[in-house]
Amino acid sequence: MHTAAEAAARIATAVSPLDTERVPIADALGRVLGADVVSAVDLPPWDNSSMDGYAVRAADVRGASREHPVVLTVIGTIAAGASASRPVAQGEAYRIMTGAPLPPSADGVIRVEDTDGGADRVHVLDDRDAGRNVRPRGEDLSAGRMALARGTRIAAAQLGVLASAGCAEVPVARRPRVAILTTGDELVDLDRFDEVRRGARIVSSNGYTLSALVREMGGEVLALGLVRDDPGALRAWLEALPPHDLLLTSGGISVGAFDHTRSVLAELGAELDFWRVRIRPGAPLGFGRWRGAPWIGLPGNPVSTMVTFELFVKPALRRMLGMPRVFPLPVPVRAAERVTTGAPLTHFFRVTLSAGDDGVLEARLTGGQGSGLLTSMAKADALLIVPAGRDGASPGDWLTAIMLGQESLLTDRTVF
Ligand code: AMP
Ligand code: MG
Repeated sequence: MHTAAEAAARIATAVSPLDTERVPIADALGRVLGADVVSAVDLPPWDNSSMDGYAVRAADVRGASREHPVVLTVIGTIAAGASASRPVAQGEAYRIMTGAPLPPSADGVIRVEDTDGGADRVHVLDDRDAGRNVRPRGEDLSAGRMALARGTRIAAAQLGVLASAGCAEVPVARRPRVAILTTGDELVDLDRFDEVRRGARIVSSNGYTLSALVREMGGEVLALGLVRDDPGALRAWLEALPPHDLLLTSGGISVGAFDHTRSVLAELGAELDFWRVRIRPGAPLGFGRWRGAPWIGLPGNPVSTMVTFELFVKPALRRMLGMPRVFPLPVPVRAAERVTTGAPLTHFFRVTLSAGDDGVLEARLTGGQGSGLLTSMAKADALLIVPAGRDGASPGDWLTAIMLGQESLLTDRTVF
């Protein structure tokens, strides 16, 4: 049986990057760059002032102090978006605003606080800014050079860089087309909630969580099926599936008498790689390939479904999107309470995180850890990892945790 790390690596290496398409920059948020983006321009486009002050020649102001000010003739004002009409000669200065182009032959900007602010003549009262406060042309981006690398996820900062670089049409990885099949005779969708109310059925919440996770990752839900525990029905659904990049199934992968997913896929000629992993929750996890696309068989328990999506499906989707780093980077956290494990498996506990008095992240269980308790996932900030070699952790022990989303790591008091 594979460890979680082995299984995640095995799945990620078995998938390949998708082709790319171009989208308008307005639609690029959340997508992943499908090619390196080269800047069309230098940014900043000119040497410019980083201060409101006076553009001068350093040689003119060296030695200036409050006791012995240097007096210069002000020959004009340069606003941001304007430019100097002529170079600065010896004994002269331009009044200059932040971002405005440095006039020819000036080599620094004296901040206005170090002057008397004069309009025709200016007294320079300090020489600490001689030769300083200039942002050189091309300091941020330079024309013809790479602005952002292929595989970069596009968030706010990246959108700003793309805009600055002149990239109005953005090359992005195509959205992975993901087919999702939930299985189980006990399941219905919300249109049959009267049966749920009667206590006869449960809602197929995995259809909702899995679709949401796929969409959050930038994927497209190609088909979403809810099928009975009936080999014929499973076969029919799988055979009717249009071309897809990834098949996810939920449930029916364990050793129950009505767990048919694996056997039906095998019958249809799927390659089956493995069907169990040394983790809790989520041990019954299947992986294989069917009709040229990877298949990941997620366990049906709602928590197991979501945890295995984090650990195994997200890396696969990131690989499809061409991202260079696909695995979650666990962060150090301190256990704030006792946690015990029941078997020699790597455990992933649902925890909330808060800042301890010394500012470090402290992990507390969200409550019961049963794999059917979906509300524990709804409360969790992170998955606390207890490696297979330990039988638990005590308060104060250092462990690591996988974050479940940036917007969830918030606090009710400032800790910065
Ligand atoms: P299975 O993996 O099919 O043996 O299912 C394990 C547990 O997860 C059972 O209690 C199922 O009722 C539950 N379950 C399976 N599929 C879903 C689903 N789509 N939504 C919610 N619960 C599910
Ligand atoms: Mg089932």
